[in-house]
Amino acid sequence: MKDETKCLHSGYTPQNGGPGVMPIYQSTTFRFNSTQEIAEVFDDPTKAHIYSRFTNPTVDCVEKKIAELENGIAAMCTTSGQAASLISILNIASSGDRILSSSAIYGGTVNLFAITLKKFGITVDFIDSDDDENKIQSAIKPNTKAIFGETLANPSLKVLDIEKFAKIAHSNNIPLIVDNTFPTPILCKPIDFGADIVIHSTTKYMDGHALQVGGVIVDSGKFDFTNGKFPDFTKPDESYHGTIYTKDYPNCPYIIKARAQLMRDFGCYPSGMSGFLLNIGLETLALRMERYCQNGLKLAEYFNNHPKIKSINYPALKNDKYYNLAQKYLPKGTSGVMSITMNGTRQETMNFMDKLKLASNEVHVADIRTCVLHPASATHRQLTDEQLVACGINPSMVRVSAGLENIDDIIQDFEQALT
Ligand SMILES: *Cc1c(COP(=O)(O)O)cnc(C)c1O
Repeated sequence: MKDETKCLHSGYTPQNGGPGVMPIYQSTTFRFNSTQEIAEVFDDPTKAHIYSRFTNPTVDCVEKKIAELENGIAAMCTTSGQAASLISILNIASSGDRILSSSAIYGGTVNLFAITLKKFGITVDFIDSDDDENKIQSAIKPNTKAIFGETLANPSLKVLDIEKFAKIAHSNNIPLIVDNTFPTPILCKPIDFGADIVIHSTTKYMDGHALQVGGVIVDSGKFDFTNGKFPDFTKPDESYHGTIYTKDYPNCPYIIKARAQLMRDFGCYPSGMSGFLLNIGLETLALRMERYCQNGLKLAEYFNNHPKIKSINYPALKNDKYYNLAQKYLPKGTSGVMSITMNGTRQETMNFMDKLKLASNEVHVADIRTCVLHPASATHRQLTDEQLVACGINPSMVRVSAGLENIDDIIQDFEQALT
């Protein structure tokens, strides 16, 4: 099936006389006829649902749909994008290990990697994703367990050269983890370019309606965890009655371990209702992404020619530094998200934003409604103007997320505010 069809039909197949719409299994637990049957499900957790701290039939349908859209083999939903990032790393790295990450990633992930993981004993080394192969290679140490990057970085909108990173990761026998939140599988499927694990904040375009926070981890099933670098996958798991993930689940040891071990212990699993709401967003994802890209490009072209806008980052524009990479990895478009820098002071930028009527000023992005955010006074508020410039954020920069309103109304709102 093609993406539009998968969005509607993957994951759930109505049975004869059964509900046409995926039902909501809002139940903490599942009942069995015998103690023996429960024992068997504990032996092989892929056999049935046990307890909604780590499996649920409604969420299971959504996981299957997302795995199919990403050309992966299996997926696991989480209660936030942050939880997906955390588990994707903890499933591979323990205290004493390192991760190599692109520095062009979401601010929340920077905090998680640079501060919180450090307290767990995991060191994250950051590199510029534009560096050449040799420079990136030289940052990999013997205890580096994975490479991490974002396809289309939030908020810098740098495009990741996925094939370059996959090649480096694989020549070091470590997996490449890609956060594919902004493109969604509709605009880019990182697994097709060599990524091993794909994660998302489903809070953004996948949910699409700003209804709920969520995340997902997708396993390509392609990485060889028996290569000697990952003993947690090849030795018996004492916490799961001696399961050897690569032997007992050779097709997708990564996602089974993430669920059987980490989700069981952390319990950040969405409810049946959450799965149902996410699925409503996914049903129209392909259609919505097309329009976000159309509206995004028209709005970007408007800003690109406006005398009050000093610069714009939107990789679908021909004059963007990442245009060529975007043509390769995101040929259908680069979503509705862009960042603009005003010809004006921090205060003038804030005045302009306060004049917007249609576009919402809010801490959100990749939403059905057009929204804006001033990083300097919100997400990066603790930094001085000098520090902001040092980390690539201009005090006059605005992150703009084009929604699904009519593009004429969107442009008119920015026009009146700029005037
Ligand atoms: C928002 C976001 C996250 C974090 O997701 P939450 O659902 O807010 O926890 C991670 N990565 C990217 C690229 C994001 O935009």
